[in-house]
Amino acid sequence: MNKVTQPTLTIDGKTVAIEGERNLLELVRKANIDLPTFCYHSELSVYGACRLCLVEVEGRGIMGACSTPAEPGLKVLTTTPEIREIRRIAVELLLANHDQSCPTCSRSANCQLQSLAQRLGVKRIRFKSVYQPVELDESSPSLVRDPNKCVLCGDCVRMCWEIQGIGAIDFTHRGHEVSVQPAFGKQLGEVECVNCGQCASVCPTGALTVKSEVDQVWDLLAEPKKSVAVQIAPAVRVGLGECFGLKPGEITTGRVVAALKQLGFNQIYDTSFAADLTVLEEGTEFLERKSKGGQLPMFTSCCPGWVKYAEQYFPELLPNLSTCRSPQQMFGSLLKAMLPQQLKIERKDLKVVAIMPCTAKKFEAQRPEMGVDGDPDVDHVLTTQELAQMIKSAGIIFDKLQPESFDMPFGFYTGAGVIFGNSGGVMEAVLRYAVEKATGEKLDHVEFQEVRGDSGLREATIAVNGSELKLAVVHGLRNARVVAEQVRAGKCDYDLIEVMACPGGCIGGAGQPVTSEPNWRALRAKGLYQADKMLQLHKSQDNVFITECYAKFLGEVGGHKAHHLLHTTYQSRRRITDESLPLMQSISDDKVKVSVCLGTNCYLKGSQKVLNAVLRHAEEAGLENRLDVRAGFCFEKCESGPTVMIDGQHVHHCTAAKAVEVINSRIETDNPDHLAGVDPAHIRTD
Ligand code: SF4
Ligand code: SF4
Ligand code: SF4
Repeated sequence: MNKVTQPTLTIDGKTVAIEGERNLLELVRKANIDLPTFCYHSELSVYGACRLCLVEVEGRGIMGACSTPAEPGLKVLTTTPEIREIRRIAVELLLANHDQSCPTCSRSANCQLQSLAQRLGVKRIRFKSVYQPVELDESSPSLVRDPNKCVLCGDCVRMCWEIQGIGAIDFTHRGHEVSVQPAFGKQLGEVECVNCGQCASVCPTGALTVKSEVDQVWDLLAEPKKSVAVQIAPAVRVGLGECFGLKPGEITTGRVVAALKQLGFNQIYDTSFAADLTVLEEGTEFLERKSKGGQLPMFTSCCPGWVKYAEQYFPELLPNLSTCRSPQQMFGSLLKAMLPQQLKIERKDLKVVAIMPCTAKKFEAQRPEMGVDGDPDVDHVLTTQELAQMIKSAGIIFDKLQPESFDMPFGFYTGAGVIFGNSGGVMEAVLRYAVEKATGEKLDHVEFQEVRGDSGLREATIAVNGSELKLAVVHGLRNARVVAEQVRAGKCDYDLIEVMACPGGCIGGAGQPVTSEPNWRALRAKGLYQADKMLQLHKSQDNVFITECYAKFLGEVGGHKAHHLLHTTYQSRRRITDESLPLMQSISDDKVKVSVCLGTNCYLKGSQKVLNAVLRHAEEAGLENRLDVRAGFCFEKCESGPTVMIDGQHVHHCTAAKAVEVINSRIETDNPDHLAGVDPAHIRTD
């Protein structure tokens, strides 16, 4: 039998085996060489824009490693005098057009541009500065966009479109005016952004950063009259350590509590307690929907990025969302309802701070329905990164802290509450409750491996009481769209669907530290499953303090008071079609009304060209008095865009020729002579 030889190439003289790597960059990294790049992310498409990952291939010259496929026998050099000089020039050019305010920049500790300049020994910039300051965009509740620090790598654009399927930001203009911004020059807070922050998590510089609430929290802690309670989300405990040199996934719960005590928080609680509460409420809601013929499939509602996405793009599915608030908001509502009496203070003097892995939680806390008479249930949301900044600012040496315990009773939790931080964790936690409840038998084997994993869309079927429960677990909003479209079309028979906006679930939230560890997601997920294993209790229904909370305060699970405090309502955020811009107006009685959607999805698919062609056609065919043309902003047919509405009829996948054909057919119906000689096939689309 012939022995199959392993294909190899050489990198800086070392032989390296080719084992399915997508390009030379992956092989160079496999050879333990850290080739610089701004625009390469293994989960995103290859863009090849930053020109930093250059290599010299013998016989071929200098080329981008990210866009060169691996071929056996290639001889690759990664550092030559010429390559070094090209890289230096690239970095100097970027810096010449950059707001170099490193000491005050929030990315200073882990900015790739700064570290690359240092690595390449850039001491001065040989090019004349062309930097023109542009205003910051602080309109988003979650992020700050600083175009002065953008290196045009396009990572954010590809993340928002390829993984989240939204396209809230894109390249605009050409040549030296090119920039990355939300559509139509709007601010981030005005477009379809769901505040997931995933764009910021891939941005190599300070151009997209988490909006900080650190100063407000310091102010709160300094107010003697206020009692400040803090809750820590499950995923924070396996991410925070990375800011202090620990490995991803290392469980730091006790040290986080100790740090928070030292910072001056008055009550220190675990959001996992509220996750246990969520399990009981959501599990009960699911079982009721199942037994009483309620709206199925039921979608989970813990992820505020997903909730806003559903409100924007799938408002008809809002009755399918669980009405449960997220654990953060359940906790805020419960604490503000219970603690003031216990502490003998007024509600206004109790402040609740949430430490979250997530930037969308900042938006969620500001939703008007999440409060009482304008007083929010959660006053401030700090991300894991922001907490690390506070700890560093206070000079606390994190890894020397002696672990401490949460305050009781809201610091008590089961493993079901902890695994909420992983994709599939909410589903598994609900199953640990619902299966026991439905069968009436004690569940001894609590691990549902079927719903674990890292794939963006996972399906599982489990047998309960002789019937089957069909489940789906989704992360990344592009994947969520696929499932939501199937549900809307009645093409799937799932019972329960867990959706998390961020890849990997909350452990991959954009508020978590940015790390260069390649396996970080798997390590953090493992950390949370390990934390579950280390606890004595694994089912939310076994949390005695939850039982006591219902007995003494909330009443029945799913009852009136629980509903009032722990559930919520949703609102359609569908863009309305009359939010449109008139471009050509006719006063004729028999005018044809044309509205071209310029919402981000349609725009990216070429609707602007269709609009231009329609306007040009009107002019060239003398139809100005017959057409009423508008730029609309959404017909909610994003999947079949570009969409044009002509006299109330949607034309999907519309091209310029198709639009003109339909317009002509309308006009011909009224006046057959009007369009003699106009052939839609000859419509210009430039
Ligand atoms: S983005 Fe980087 S290089 Fe630019 S100011 Fe911030 S830390 Fe400095
Ligand atoms: S926060 Fe999320 S939705 Fe908003 S621009 Fe960034 S990736 Fe897109
Ligand atoms: S904002 Fe950040 S990720 Fe987006 S293009 Fe600019 S530097 Fe790249």
